[in-house]
Amino acid sequence: MPPRLPIVLASETMRDILTYLNSHSDEMVDDLEAYVKWETPSDEKPLLDAGLQKILIWIYSRIGMPTREDSFESLDVGNIAVLDYGQSRPQSAILAHYDTVWPAGTTAGWPMQFDGEILSGPGIFDMKAGLVQLVWAIRALQQTAGFTPSTRLIITGDEETGSHASRSVIESRCAGIPAVYVFEASSEGALKTGRKGVGLFTVNVTGIEAHAGLNPLDGASAVHSIAEVITQSVQFAAHDEGTTVNVGLVSGGTRSNVSAGAAQVVIDVRVSSREEMNRIDSCFASLTITDPRIVIQVTTDWNRPPFERTPEIGVLFDRAARVGLLMGIPLAEVSVGGASDANFVAALGIPVLDGLGAVGDGAHARHEYATRSGLVERAALAAGLLLPETLWSVKPAPPADRTGSGDDKVE
Ligand SMILES: [Zn+2]
Repeated sequence: MPPRLPIVLASETMRDILTYLNSHSDEMVDDLEAYVKWETPSDEKPLLDAGLQKILIWIYSRIGMPTREDSFESLDVGNIAVLDYGQSRPQSAILAHYDTVWPAGTTAGWPMQFDGEILSGPGIFDMKAGLVQLVWAIRALQQTAGFTPSTRLIITGDEETGSHASRSVIESRCAGIPAVYVFEASSEGALKTGRKGVGLFTVNVTGIEAHAGLNPLDGASAVHSIAEVITQSVQFAAHDEGTTVNVGLVSGGTRSNVSAGAAQVVIDVRVSSREEMNRIDSCFASLTITDPRIVIQVTTDWNRPPFERTPEIGVLFDRAARVGLLMGIPLAEVSVGGASDANFVAALGIPVLDGLGAVGDGAHARHEYATRSGLVERAALAAGLLLPETLWSVKPAPPADRTGSGDDKVE
């Protein structure tokens, strides 16, 4: 059984952090507004480069210079910055991507808007608010406890397009780190302790062209065959196991009166476990087409492996839940269908907690928003997570009225 925490002292630490963040919430909102203006669409390299420069200058201004900084450059997607803070080896790593799905110019018609509690703007929920919360969490620790956590910030610019350039950096820079925190948006406030793996299967079928009226039997229609592929593929789904199949793109043929020489289908498959990933691989390997003249070729791209909840991930969630309790915020956990960079980390067996970012809704949609209270609360939650548990209760109790109040010591 863990030692009983003197909850009043621990709460005071969290209360100091919350008070600090509440009193600086206008600055947090200002930072978010500036960050939204720095448009960072995944496919606009010059904007990504300019955006990352501004982000780094802003981070240095808020939490100081890192003890170590590495940068990984890419020709066509956003560069990666890895910033180590604190004096010892990193005890945690933070994943945050700065690219968004919104094209250049979006902020001209849709700048960040305030409606009391609601902050809306392109990229706010996914995931600009998350990075603002994280930076202010570290600043709050510095300002209230004089403590800079030993943590590694991994800031990437190609998450929305599959993290092809950043995956190896994420994997190598998270290796050996005991906890990884991902500041992707929450799910209605819940943290994410599981995500499906995503596989893209592209099936190309080659047939034989012929005139549909003059010599139809000489033709071998790739389109007819792709229909067989589709019919078989949708049956690979296993909803009880969490496996879904979506035939999202179909193309083929040239004219209605020509038997099609080529056709293609692109299929999105989501799985919750390695076993299902393997089963799906063998299913696609066993696709059959009736006409022996047809040539079939399957290309497999498991873009992200499944992020399965392990006991170690459960321990991380419990820790977050206890920080939440200290603030009076009950936290829930969910497993979701969408993948993130957390999938790469979890697949290596590294404990990871995701969904620590914005409270809000509307990722990739015109109603995208984050809440102002979530900005403060989530920054405080992150601060609690980055504070070693041994420091949760070290704040000296004020003299006089608090001394000797043993009643305050509850679990
Ligand atoms: Zn995201």
